[in-house]
Amino acid sequence: MSTPFNPVPAERVGDQSASIWTEFAALAVENKAVNLGQGFPDGSAPKFVTDILKKISEKPEMVDGHQYTRGYGHPKLVETLAKWYSYLYEVAVNASDDILITVGAYHALYYAFLAWINEGDEVIIIEPAFDCYGPQIKFAGGVPVPVLMKLPEGADRACDFKIDFVELEAKINTNTKMIVINNPHNPTGKLFSYSELQRTADLAKKYNLIVVADEVYEFHVENTFNVQGVWKMEMVRFASLPGMYERTISIGSAGKIFSVTGWKLGWAIAPKKLLAPLKANHQNCASSCSTPTQLAVAEALEYEFPKYLFRPFKSYLAYKLPKEICKKCRKMSVMLKKANFTTIWPDAGFFMLADYSNVKNVPNFKESVQEESQAESDEPEPQIEVEDPADLMFARWLCREKKIAVIPLTAFYSTNEDKNANDKMIRVCFFKKEETLNKAKKVLDKLSQ
Ligand code: PMP
Ligand code: GLN
Repeated sequence: MSTPFNPVPAERVGDQSASIWTEFAALAVENKAVNLGQGFPDGSAPKFVTDILKKISEKPEMVDGHQYTRGYGHPKLVETLAKWYSYLYEVAVNASDDILITVGAYHALYYAFLAWINEGDEVIIIEPAFDCYGPQIKFAGGVPVPVLMKLPEGADRACDFKIDFVELEAKINTNTKMIVINNPHNPTGKLFSYSELQRTADLAKKYNLIVVADEVYEFHVENTFNVQGVWKMEMVRFASLPGMYERTISIGSAGKIFSVTGWKLGWAIAPKKLLAPLKANHQNCASSCSTPTQLAVAEALEYEFPKYLFRPFKSYLAYKLPKEICKKCRKMSVMLKKANFTTIWPDAGFFMLADYSNVKNVPNFKESVQEESQAESDEPEPQIEVEDPADLMFARWLCREKKIAVIPLTAFYSTNEDKNANDKMIRVCFFKKEETLNKAKKVLDKLSQ
């Protein structure tokens, strides 16, 4: 008789329920909903970028375009990134030692944790936080330690989300090895100010921490992003702060900067000493990344560089991209307000938070679920949805009943207590083509009636 096949997954895999992206991508398709959930632009990618890839694909004989390339990154890509980031950080970034090309920013983050975190090491993350940090830190054996950013009552700008630095410092102990700072911030749309970053840098120095600076939305910033033009904000890259290059692993994404998220190409940039263990991981994991996309990104960055520096109004990154998202942001804000959402105006990025408390005709999910379970009291199984946060139930209802997909804010908190205290908001992606925004407007207009 053969032994029943009952394999037990490795403990490190942990929770195997669907991530918020998996659930809502499927729910949006299933319900043919307007998708404002997952963060990707659904319009045309910039033609100058796809034209470069087309040109490469038309040259099958090009070995450096189609065969394995240098494992740590295509020579042309690391050269141009070194030029760009030496300029942006005002530090000499070494092309061969300080840059590692990865399968999207996700992979760069994962390498950073795997390379530096030992069993029991603690990593400070600022919540709400991009949802992969916690699981990735745990995969590495580490302990994510959340520090909450709070929005004061009645505040309506993402820059009003504040870190309590006293609390942050109190959470640092002898096990703390790293801090993750995501700027511009997903999901709030906050752009950290120079002084907030400097305070983080001071703590990193005082307690000798490694800093992971996830800056994938670094070009989605416009100085006049705000409607009134009252406050001017500037992207400060963490590695450009005095003395910080030496302790920072900066994370970037070509998918984000050129609006081609499906290309899944990212990078980690850090001094040789800090990057070497990430490279060691990479050479035995992915080994190298897709060659034609690396070459295309390299050429697009080369094409952009003089424009960015000397003719910004001709530049995609300096002008066209931030202008486009800023315009869409304004449109989304008007639409949401009309439907009685209270919007939190973002400083940067392409997400906006909105409080749904005043939206009309929203069912009371907790009560209706409880009534249902009482009616079926002969069934011993409790309704799982009773445990789900209100914003998750609202987002599911919005998708199923109103045909519009958004992401609940609680997906970005790790503890049930913090989820329960922050269950009134949704995150909306506004980097969508006009057709999608107009479809969303129709749905939202009906919500206001
Ligand atoms: N960091 C943040 C804050 C993100 O929002 C994302 C999602 N784009 C990533 C990292 C991962 O980026 P990529 O698609 O390049 O893997
Ligand atoms: N970073 C994107 C977002 O925040 C997409 C994440 C994903 O699809 N895994 O929406």
